[in-house]
Amino acid sequence: MKRVRTLLLLSFAALSGIALFVSRSDATPGAVRIVVPGVWFREGDMDQGHCNNVVIEMKDYLIVVDANYPSGARAAMADVQRISSKPVKYVFDTHHHADHIYGNILWTQAGATTIAFKEVAEELKRFEPARWLASAKVRQDVAELTREGVPPGPEPPKQDIDQPRFVLNDGSRKVEFHHFGWAHTRGDGFVYLPKEQVLCTGDAVVNGPHNSFMDANIANWPVVLRAAEKLKVKYVLPGHGLAGGRELIGGQEQFMVELYKAVKAGIDAGKKLEDLQTSIKLPEAVKPWVGETSLNGQIRDAYNEISQGKPRGDLPH
Ligand SMILES: [Zn+2]
Repeated sequence: MKRVRTLLLLSFAALSGIALFVSRSDATPGAVRIVVPGVWFREGDMDQGHCNNVVIEMKDYLIVVDANYPSGARAAMADVQRISSKPVKYVFDTHHHADHIYGNILWTQAGATTIAFKEVAEELKRFEPARWLASAKVRQDVAELTREGVPPGPEPPKQDIDQPRFVLNDGSRKVEFHHFGWAHTRGDGFVYLPKEQVLCTGDAVVNGPHNSFMDANIANWPVVLRAAEKLKVKYVLPGHGLAGGRELIGGQEQFMVELYKAVKAGIDAGKKLEDLQTSIKLPEAVKPWVGETSLNGQIRDAYNEISQGKPRGDLPH
């Protein structure tokens, strides 16, 4: 059956009591919702590995947050065209992960300029094209973009931001890009609309059990989130999972703090990794972020970071 992509023109502001934590069955992949006038949240299809996208309307153009996988980029582009006749001028990559950046080339071909903090390009140099080649073996949309005669790999952002804060202001709207340091990846970028109090977090904040620590600095992650929390925020638009309020930042932060604390206590008590993986119990408040299948790997990542005295992202992959 052909899936009908729904374009739900619902205002979050009009929805009282949005459920912050919903089960996967409550998700509506591909749904596009208005957050505030001129700002749309597009829910990524997790079955295809897609991230969420955000579309921000300026006077003469649009800004899209995250390039997505190639198939996600195509789907997002189709929705963008339905939303607005304005061209996409900028696509901001929140970080270097495949599901956020592999679609870059498609946006470039469509006339947009991809931008990111300079640490994103540095991460690509560190990890690519190995990950692209592995991905192309299992993903048709990535394989299709691997062409003969062209070196394989993701297209790096066309513009690097080399300061921790960058602002676009065309008189109609002010959009701030913030780099608060190394959390989920070294290049984590946040997009903040101060007037509308909207914060796009990439994977530094997710809503649900979607955390990946593979390139992370687990100890520093809460520090980054505390910096983000200083902003006046009403709407949090995460890289994965549904949109919510500022509680999502606090919840993600508490998950990181509690996990780190529990693993550190175990190491200090001389426990082995295997013992920790079977014994760690996290508080009820952070349960929405605990994944049945992912927790063991996260405990292992924290264990390695603490016991080896180096951020997880600096350890062998
Ligand atoms: Zn990521």
